[in-house]
Amino acid sequence: MKLEKSIELFTKGQKHLVGAVNSPVRAFKSVGGVPLFIDRAEGSKIVDVDGNEYIDFVLSYGPMILGHRNRKVEKAIKKAIKKGYTFGASTKNELKLAKIVCNAFPGMDKVRFVNSGTEAVLSAIRLARAYTNRDKIIKFAGCYHGHSDALLVAAGSGLATLSLPGSKGVPNDAVKNTLIAEYNNIESVKKHIEENKDIAAVIIEPIAGNMGVIQPTSEFIQELRKLTYENSILLIVDEVMTGFRSKFGGAQELLNIEADITCLGKVVGGGFPVGAYGARNEIMEMVAPLGEMYQAGTLSGNPIAMACGIATLKVLKKRNPYKDFEKTAKNLEKILLDAAKEHGVDLQVNRFGSMINPFFTSKKVIDFKTAQSSDTDKFKIFFWKMIEKGVFLPPSQFEAWFLSTELSVKDLEKTKKAINKAMKKVAEM
Ligand SMILES: *Cc1c(COP(=O)(O)O)cnc(C)c1O
Repeated sequence: MKLEKSIELFTKGQKHLVGAVNSPVRAFKSVGGVPLFIDRAEGSKIVDVDGNEYIDFVLSYGPMILGHRNRKVEKAIKKAIKKGYTFGASTKNELKLAKIVCNAFPGMDKVRFVNSGTEAVLSAIRLARAYTNRDKIIKFAGCYHGHSDALLVAAGSGLATLSLPGSKGVPNDAVKNTLIAEYNNIESVKKHIEENKDIAAVIIEPIAGNMGVIQPTSEFIQELRKLTYENSILLIVDEVMTGFRSKFGGAQELLNIEADITCLGKVVGGGFPVGAYGARNEIMEMVAPLGEMYQAGTLSGNPIAMACGIATLKVLKKRNPYKDFEKTAKNLEKILLDAAKEHGVDLQVNRFGSMINPFFTSKKVIDFKTAQSSDTDKFKIFFWKMIEKGVFLPPSQFEAWFLSTELSVKDLEKTKKAINKAMKKVAEM
């Protein structure tokens, strides 16, 4: 296949961009070869600069749940642009999006908009510390919560596939209050709580998506909620990936838990840079200007981004695609497992709502350790055959594939054929 223009841009891009990218996963390091440069996208499809068209399962790592260039969303963006780009003062649309978001999450009275998931989470951590007057936090190995210093330990896909233990440049002092527990292992949480009196919060991805898709067991998540409640530790549920993805609202409701603080990003901005954190009044009133926890942003609540978020969520609510996502994901799971069986390839498939993830391993994947038993060389082969057959997947074994409302029966048929070819190639390795 022709990738000449991508190759040219990737080579040229090295001069003034770091590795020719602005986020490491885009460099395709873990699958090798040249990363695609994208020209445009529409509906379920994305087109690279060489004119190759792919069915898009990356969807910008989540935000494009309605597929690309939804008509209604685009109309709303155009309308907003005509009024100006940013004012440094509040606008009506911020109130609108805040209302939609708060109504979608039980127990969320107030929300603050920021510009990314990273920012939402780091602010939520600060808020938990301010509210509890404690410093320590617990995070789970393999969960990713953005690239802020305190959370950049045992942080999942980006680091896992680069085999970095954390990151250079993060001072020990910045992570000395971060305790690591194991996903789906309540004892590992209990131990930290017994040994530390000053834990402000536990932060968790309600459905892990950054070490591949991993669901918490019901006992684990219920115990975690109970344990944090009993010890007056806040539970921060990082729904940056899962928010509005498996239902209109959060995964926390599907898991039958309620967060103390919820973090959002990705879908909430519909493709524009929006993050958010929200909680009940008593907690949110700690935030400036009402309270003493400082957090600010020149472009926070940007009018174009708000318009895009509102339109995306409106279309999403009306369309209510969640049952269809479930069906499609189930279908895709079967396609993957059947192909693996036919070609004698060890494969596990985990999924939740519109997130799905095959792991090339014979072990059931329940945490970071079992996820890492996956054969990443097999994934590499699989990935490139899928590209050749016109299917764009996240370029890492440990990134979730996403479904959009625009994925058609025809797209799924094409994906099935590609999967069969790719699995055959993996078997021939
Ligand atoms: C993507 C993601 C983040 C970081 O969001 P950015 O917008 O990339 O900063 C944080 N938490 C989770 C669970 C994510 O999936």
